[in-house]
Amino acid sequence: PKIKGVFRVVSSLCNSNKLKNVNYINKKREKVVILGSGWGGIHFLLNIDFQKYDVTLISPRNYFTFTPLLPCLCSGTLNVDACSENVETLLKKNKISGKYLKLECIDIVYKDKYIKCKDSINSNNEIKIYYDYLVISVGAKTNSFNIKGVDKYAFYIKDIIDALKIRRKFISNLETCLKRIKTNNTNSEHYTNNNINDDLAKNMLHVVIVGGGPTGVEVAAELADFVNKDIKNKNKYKEIYKYISISIIEGGNNLLPTFTQNISNFTKDTFKKLNINVYTNYYVIEIDENNFYIKSSINKNEEYQKIPYGIIIWASGLAQIPLINNFIKKIPEQVNNRILNVNQYLRVIGIQSNNIYAIGDCKQINPIKSHEHVNEIINCLGNSKITSDMLKQKSEELSSIFPQLSDKKWDYNKNKKSEMTPKELEKYLIMIDKNYKSPPPTAQNAKQEAFYLSNIFNNYLYNNNNIIPPFIEKWKGSLAYVGNHQVVAHLPFYEIKGGLFSFTFWKIIYMQMLLTWKSRFNFIFSFLRTKIYGRPFY
Ligand code: FAD
Ligand code: NAD
Repeated sequence: PKIKGVFRVVSSLCNSNKLKNVNYINKKREKVVILGSGWGGIHFLLNIDFQKYDVTLISPRNYFTFTPLLPCLCSGTLNVDACSENVETLLKKNKISGKYLKLECIDIVYKDKYIKCKDSINSNNEIKIYYDYLVISVGAKTNSFNIKGVDKYAFYIKDIIDALKIRRKFISNLETCLKRIKTNNTNSEHYTNNNINDDLAKNMLHVVIVGGGPTGVEVAAELADFVNKDIKNKNKYKEIYKYISISIIEGGNNLLPTFTQNISNFTKDTFKKLNINVYTNYYVIEIDENNFYIKSSINKNEEYQKIPYGIIIWASGLAQIPLINNFIKKIPEQVNNRILNVNQYLRVIGIQSNNIYAIGDCKQINPIKSHEHVNEIINCLGNSKITSDMLKQKSEELSSIFPQLSDKKWDYNKNKKSEMTPKELEKYLIMIDKNYKSPPPTAQNAKQEAFYLSNIFNNYLYNNNNIIPPFIEKWKGSLAYVGNHQVVAHLPFYEIKGGLFSFTFWKIIYMQMLLTWKSRFNFIFSFLRTKIYGRPFY
C-alpha cells in the first residue's frame, strides 16, 4: 500500500487532469481523430473500441502499405495486392463503425482542439475538424540531408508508388538500352562508336542504392535476384545483360549496421557473390543528372570519386514531414527538438490539455527523468539499502512510471553498485536516464505502440483510471532478405545467417503478419507465379 501511495503521487505528476474531467454521466462518445493510415494508424483503428469512442481516420492515402514487402514490389516478386489493404474495405470487413476521410492534415491548432485539412481533389478547400483526442501517426519521409541533386534525381522508396516507379524506370532503361544497341547493329555509322556505346550502356544500366540499412540492403537484394534470375534468362535481354551492374553505397563500415557483426559480414559476402558492388565507408555527397559523387568517410584527404549511374535509389534514413516540423515549432517545450517528443504514455509533451498522442516514426519517447524523483524512488525502496540489486528487485514496479528503470532497458548486473547515498543514487539514475533509447522507427514498434495506446483508450481513459502503465516495447527480432533465397535474422536469443529454411521462415513470419486473407492469397500466388514463370517485365 505504501508503494502504491508513492506511485499515485508520482503518477499524478505525470498523468493528466483531463482524465478527471471525462464526463461519465451521459457517457458521450468522445471524438478520436487518427492521422495516418500506416502501421500505427491502422492498428490503432483496428483495436479501438467504437462503442466507447467516435473514431475518424484521416489520411491522403486510402490504403495501408505493408512496407516490409515493398522491396519485393521493386523487383516484381510480389504484386501490389500482396502488400496493400484498402482502408474502407478493412473498416467494412472488421465491422468497424469508424469513418475514413481522404484528406491531408496541414495544421494542428492544439489550443482550440482542431486540425486543418486539405482536400486532395480541391486543394483550395480547407476543412476544419474538431477532436477530443488526436492520435498522430503520420510516419516520416526519407532524409535527403539536403544533399544536392537527391530530391531531383534520386528515387525514394517509402510507398507503393515509389516501388513501381523504380521498377518502371529500370525496365525503361533496359528497353532504351536494347533499342540503342539494335540501332548500332543496323547502323554502321554508329557501329564504329561501339566502345562509347558500351560505356553508355553500362552507365544506363548501373543501378545504385544509397544507404546500407535494411531498406537499401533488401532493395539491392531483390533487384539482384531480378537481374541474376530473370533478366539473365530472358533471350530478349541477352545482349545487354553484361552491361547491368548494381552498387550499394554505405557511409558506415557495415551493411545492416543495426544487426550483429556476423550478420553484417555475411550480408557483405552474399552481396559479393551476387555481383553487387559494395562500397562501405563512402558517403554520397552530390548527384547530378548522370553521375553521383562519393567521398571516403575514413580518409578525409582522399579525392571524391565521380561515378555514372542509370538509376539511383535513396534509402538513407528518416526525417520528419513538414506537418510535424511546424507542429513542433508551435509548442514552446519542443521548439528545439528535431522530432516530436512524447512522454512514456505516448502523450505529446507540452500540450496542457494532454489530449494529443503520437505513435510510429513521427515521434520519439522522452520519458520522465528518474533522477528528478530521487526521494520518491528512495521511498519506494522502503527501508532497504539503496543498491543496484535493490533497484533491480523493484524495477518492475518502478518501470511502471520510469520505463528506463526496467531491466529490459538497463543491465543492472553489468552496472552493479553497492550501497549508495542519495547523491550517488542521483548520479546512478542520471546514467540510467541517459542510457534510455527511444524505440527505433520500425513497423514492429509502430504496431506495438498502436496496440498499447488503443488499450489505454479502451481500458484506462474510458474508465477514468489514471494509473496508466508506460509504454515499453518488446523487441521480437529483425529480419532482412539478402538475396538468392537467403534471409538473415537477429532474434532475441539466436541469429540466422541464410541457410535452406531461412527464406521459408521469412515467408511464414510475413504471411501471419499480413492483415487479410486477400493479401495472404496474393502473397502465396505471387511467389508461385515467380517460381514458375519468373518475374514480369511490365
Ligand atoms: P507509415 O506506415 O509510414 O504511415 C504514415 C501514414 O500517414 C500514411 O498513411 C501517410 O499517407 C499518412 N500521412 C502522411 N502525412 C499525412 C498528413 N499530413 N495527414 C494525414 N495523414 C498523413 N519496419 C519493420 O519493422 N520491419 C520491416 O521489415 C520494415 N521494412 C520496411 C521496408 C521499407 C521499404 C520501408 C520504407 C520501411 C520499412 N520498415 C520496416 C519501417 C516501417 O515501415 C515504419 O517504421 C512504419 O511504416 C512506421 O509506421 P507509421 O504508422 O509511423 O508510418
Ligand atoms: P537506416 O537509417 O536504418 O539506414 C540508412 C543508412 O544509410 C545508414 O546506415 C547510413 O549510414 C546510410 N547513409 C546515410 N546517408 C548516406 C549517404 N549520404 N551516403 C551513403 N550512406 C548514407 O534507414 P532505413 O534502412 O531506411 O531504415 C529505416 C527504419 O526502418 C529503420 O528503423 C529500420 O530498422 C526500419 N526497417 C527495417 C527493415 C527490416 O527489419 N527488415 C527493413 C526496412 C526498414
